[in-house]
Amino acid sequence: MTRTDRIPMRTTSRITLLLLLIAGFALGRWAFPAGGKAPAASGESAAAAPAVEEIWTCAMHPQVRLPEPGQCPICGMDLIPADAGGGSSLGPRDLRMSPDAVALADIQTAKVVRRTVAHDVPMVGKVAYDETRVSTITTWVPGRLEKLFVDYTGVPVRKGEHLVEIYSPTLFSAQQELLQAIVAEKRIGRSSLDILHTASTATVTSTREKLRLYGMTDAQIEELVARGTPDERVTIYAPTGGIVIHKKALEGMYVDEGSEVYTIADLSKVWVFLDAYESDLVWLRYGQDVRFTVEAYPGRTLHGRVAFIDPSLDDRTRTVKVRLNVENEDGLLKPGMFVSAVAEARLSDAGKVVDTNLAGKWMCPMHPEVIGDGPESCPECGMELKPVEELGFITEPDGDPVLVIPATAPLLTGKRAVVYVKLPDREEPTFQGRVVTLGPRAGDWYVVEDGLEEGETVV
Ligand SMILES: [Zn+2]
Ligand SMILES: [Zn+2]
Repeated sequence: MTRTDRIPMRTTSRITLLLLLIAGFALGRWAFPAGGKAPAASGESAAAAPAVEEIWTCAMHPQVRLPEPGQCPICGMDLIPADAGGGSSLGPRDLRMSPDAVALADIQTAKVVRRTVAHDVPMVGKVAYDETRVSTITTWVPGRLEKLFVDYTGVPVRKGEHLVEIYSPTLFSAQQELLQAIVAEKRIGRSSLDILHTASTATVTSTREKLRLYGMTDAQIEELVARGTPDERVTIYAPTGGIVIHKKALEGMYVDEGSEVYTIADLSKVWVFLDAYESDLVWLRYGQDVRFTVEAYPGRTLHGRVAFIDPSLDDRTRTVKVRLNVENEDGLLKPGMFVSAVAEARLSDAGKVVDTNLAGKWMCPMHPEVIGDGPESCPECGMELKPVEELGFITEPDGDPVLVIPATAPLLTGKRAVVYVKLPDREEPTFQGRVVTLGPRAGDWYVVEDGLEEGETVV
């Protein structure tokens, strides 16, 4: 692959070039009113000048034609050589300049090259709960809330810790049913009638099941059977560790089956929602690494991977929500924290993300943070991991590069982009204006989608 180092074009020389181009067209029209034949020399200075001598003109005032370099009598600009030689193959968009004029205008050219382009996409957003890790603690039996062991929100709980004690007459009678069924089963067990035996065993099984549905654990049921006396209180334990984020009930309240008492969020993984501008979407892909900082830990860089890009745009802000899945084992990130993020996007030709760190890796199609070395199944969702290449990644540093031109090359006129291409095999530098289709801008480069070939030279 060839790479051409580009010298940034100075603004002044760009303006000069533009003026030259305008002047060039004007001059062409003036010099060849019809048919492309040079008219007889007119005007004192032109007539006096020998045929080989160059004529000097002003880029702003093409009517000024003087035999020697100097300043324009109208505006004082330095004159440039007016090369109106009668070349044959100039198209309507073509512009020929003498080598002197090219040098004078300080015109820089660059080759159209293929390379991977990088672009930093800055975004801001907020830490949020991982919605798949939020569980609601509900009562499984009607009764009265005797004791709430977590008094306020924000308290961390561990898996298996007691949360609620409920006084429940319903549960009390269900426990009695089981104890009676067990007594009956034992009595019938001594009789020889099989049919009675089967029926009593079924009753024990169904009453046990009822207690399980009321939220009693197997251990609690065994304890009840061993004790032999019912207890009208039942304790609810935390099904998962996390932070109590909502407390919806008060001690002493009467509740029905299915009433919500607490909401617990497991913060070992969190979500970060970022706002991306419409124009930045081209740079963002599933699974992409995004680094970010939060105010609470200045100077500390955290990472997450793009798990979801909202398919619809927020009408008001013209932004799209981008969700990161972030590991938070140490609990540093708290929901609501403001996040300032940067996605360092490297894009290839097919719009794929270049990430050399993922070479040979496999990723879950649903959980980009789950990365493995082979076809394992995702611990989060059980899906088979896929090779990252199948998920739109390129892992070679220079794989599948895009066609680019220097960002200073195109003249952008609202809807259209025009590039001056240096035509090859011409004795004198000749430039052709061409309308091209550009992709996104990436720093010093514009991605070219259509209109240019690799190796062409642009101004
Ligand atoms: Zn002038
Ligand atoms: Zn998964």
